[in-house]
Amino acid sequence: MLQDSFGRVATDLRVSLTDRCNLRCSYCMPPEGLNWLPKPELLTADEVVRLVTIGVERLGITEVRYTGGEPLLRRELVDIVARTVALTPVPQVSLTTNGIGLARLAAPLAEAGLHRVNVSLDTLDRETFKKLAHRDRLADVLDGLAAADAAGLRPVKVNAVLMRGINDHEAAGLLRYCLERGYELRFIEQMPLDAQHGWRRENMITADEILVMLKDAFDLAEDDTAERGSAPAELFLVGGGPARVGVIGSVTRPFCGACDRVRLTADGQIRNCLFATDESDLRGAMRAGASDDELAERWTAAVRTKKAGHGIDDPSFLQPSRPMSAIGG
Ligand code: SAM
Ligand code: SF4
Repeated sequence: MLQDSFGRVATDLRVSLTDRCNLRCSYCMPPEGLNWLPKPELLTADEVVRLVTIGVERLGITEVRYTGGEPLLRRELVDIVARTVALTPVPQVSLTTNGIGLARLAAPLAEAGLHRVNVSLDTLDRETFKKLAHRDRLADVLDGLAAADAAGLRPVKVNAVLMRGINDHEAAGLLRYCLERGYELRFIEQMPLDAQHGWRRENMITADEILVMLKDAFDLAEDDTAERGSAPAELFLVGGGPARVGVIGSVTRPFCGACDRVRLTADGQIRNCLFATDESDLRGAMRAGASDDELAERWTAAVRTKKAGHGIDDPSFLQPSRPMSAIGG
């Protein structure tokens, strides 16, 4: 079991398959991109599957989410998913993606056994998309969403980050779009994880602000039936339900006390928190010949030292040196 010193147990593994991306969302990356990890440093598909197998079969991982960077850029993705759902016990397997390429890949991924997708969509306006993501790809994202739905990867979940003065007028419009298509929308507060360290608390659209905007346009009621557990989203019924919308107040309403996540970076480092400042190197150990037992022991030790919380509000808070795209969001 992956238990930390506060008694929390990690069962939800986020695996970054690449730090590369075909968008440049400004809350994540600078417009000119980043220096990508050199290929030899990336885990191979076999290495990813070996570590995920150790997590699932020995360490109690029940949920595996592939992310990045943009995971659809990883050519072996369908194969990695197929090998993950073949594990015993079968974990819940999902994908977080910007949706570009999903129009082509949704059906093969569903056939390989993928259970669900989260697609990021911050705006419905082509010009705003170009401004926010520095690429003219909104149509591809919307096509990808529709393809995920058609392939039965339901419920299709949508993640949106609102940025002040850029897309913060779109909260109601995004929700309407998702309600009309049966997608479940979640708004996520912008966190200090951008590569260029441009996050400012005063520019962040808070969960409270998001709820005010939504309540102006919709009848929202807290969903008492939803067992929140370790889920970060506070869920609200829209118009009496069953449709719902979620708000993830990662900064203003932290859920660290119930966190059940652990992360594996694209270059094989275990991080016990998005905001961790240290990592444990499984790739080096694996390539030096470590056995599955030794890798499991290293991984267990890495989780044991997880801190109580992210401490963004603490004056001593330090933004991690690795951005979200390299850690795996
Ligand atoms: N490229 C894929 C995507 O965009 O969905 C997967 C990786 S991305 C890092 C994962 C999620 O993190 C996305 O929903 C994105 O909106 C979110 N994200 C990235 N940077 C963020 C930040 N600074 N604060 C909050 N969410 C962020
Ligand atoms: Fe790429 Fe996702 Fe980061 Fe946007 S949020 S730049 S799509 S990794």
